Amino acid sequence: MKLLLSATSIVHAAHCRNVLRAAGIRAELRNTWLSGAIGEIPFRESAPQVWILDDHMEAQAWAALKTAAEPPPGPHWQCRHCHEWHEPQFGACWRCGASRD
Ligand SMILES: [Zn+2]
Repeated sequence: MKLLLSATSIVHAAHCRNVLRAAGIRAELRNTWLSGAIGEIPFRESAPQVWILDDHMEAQAWAALKTAAEPPPGPHWQCRHCHEWHEPQFGACWRCGASRD
């Protein structure tokens, strides 16, 4: 097992774990109960932690987190029905409900 990162919140830590698991990387949270003690013991020791179970997966783990943090690739697109412009991650028009394709 290897400590991958210390998160600023349990929500962020859980998000990272979920991203890793979705990428097929075994990960788990530690220190989830200690965050209430932040300020009383060093942050590095009290912050929620994300650990990977397979040490050799560290590079893949960081790649998965980096990919998840970036906006999805692709250009903005325009709805064929109402001509509203959308960011690439949306699959349907928020204005008229038409699907992207
Ligand atoms: Zn539309």
